[in-house]
Amino acid sequence: MLLNLEAVTKSFGGFQLHPLTLSIEKGEFFSLLGPSGCGKTTVLRLIGGFEMPTSGKVILNGRDITQLPPHKRSVHTVFQRYALFPHLTVWENVAFPLHLKKLPSAEIAQRVEECLKLVEILDLQDRRTHQISGGQAQRTALARALVGKPDLLLLDEPLSALDPELRMKMREELKAICKKVGITFLLVTHDQEEALQLSDRIAVFKAGQCLQVGTPKTIYEDPAEPFVARFIGAVNEIPGEIQGEAAPETGEVGLVSPLGTFKLKKNGQPLPQSVSVILRPEKMRLLRSKSTTQENLMEGEIQDLTYLGSRTEYSVKIGPSVFKVFEQELERLKKRRLNVGDRVFLAWRSEDAIILAQNS
Ligand code: ATP
Repeated sequence: MLLNLEAVTKSFGGFQLHPLTLSIEKGEFFSLLGPSGCGKTTVLRLIGGFEMPTSGKVILNGRDITQLPPHKRSVHTVFQRYALFPHLTVWENVAFPLHLKKLPSAEIAQRVEECLKLVEILDLQDRRTHQISGGQAQRTALARALVGKPDLLLLDEPLSALDPELRMKMREELKAICKKVGITFLLVTHDQEEALQLSDRIAVFKAGQCLQVGTPKTIYEDPAEPFVARFIGAVNEIPGEIQGEAAPETGEVGLVSPLGTFKLKKNGQPLPQSVSVILRPEKMRLLRSKSTTQENLMEGEIQDLTYLGSRTEYSVKIGPSVFKVFEQELERLKKRRLNVGDRVFLAWRSEDAIILAQNS
């Protein structure tokens, strides 16, 4: 294991980081995800050495670094605003950490060139930082971070200042670079799509507490709590009560809810009595007419629709609730066009439902 946080806590005036125990493997792309103020940057700063924990230990490569200052840790931080030196060229910015280490100039030249090539800005080496774009500044900061060959690279919302198109491109490159150089990347982000796309694993935070650690697939498809489910993507929720025992041959139980009675698959796990059933919009099908073969069906009315090219997003009013449903363009084209006010049916499969305890 490269990094271990052992019951790390931090208290500021009104903020408390709950005891955090977390292990990150060498070469992993790991993200800390959560809403503003949940403590992501604090965790990053504790690892970087810019804050001291109130209690607990930070272990890097088996060594306790809790009390070490930032420059004595084999960790480099790329800040949101990049913190490049304006009076230096791109080359000099990247070479800076190696000059500090007093490495021989031939080695400095070779390593700077290697890193500038890696982030594809070798041709900009003589420019000063005011002569390069935001994306190029980002690449310079990344090259400067990689040139010292740290064990761990900390990235604090590094893509937030870039325009959407560039952000998408840099996301792909960041992941490719992480895998190519084999350095562990730890990213702080509040952007769930960014975390899903980039990470090997994600830790989801809420109000100073880590709620779940898992792969993007686990976090999305098997969230531990309704908060995680809601934070990682759009959700529809049906609150209800579990009815009866699971049928031995199918594992099915009944759900009694204000929107009707439905079937759920138990999957072996014990279910609480009061549940919140979570359905992702892409897992619900929009039917133009009633079907007798669908196990779970709800009737409603189209309240709103947004055409987004590859898919159309519908809001369907069912009783007092509004459900989101995404329909892929290919599927939509094969069917009757829908308008606001049309009566429709939403169908969902019991195995696509995420069943969580209510109020968790
Ligand atoms: P954002 O996404 O907005 O950057 P975050 O999840 O990274 O948020 P933190 O920056 O870790 O959140 O802050 C967590 C809480 O700790 C906030 O309430 C913040 O005001 C508080 N905090 C952070 N640093 C300090 C400090 N040095 N002194 C006092 N309070 C602080």
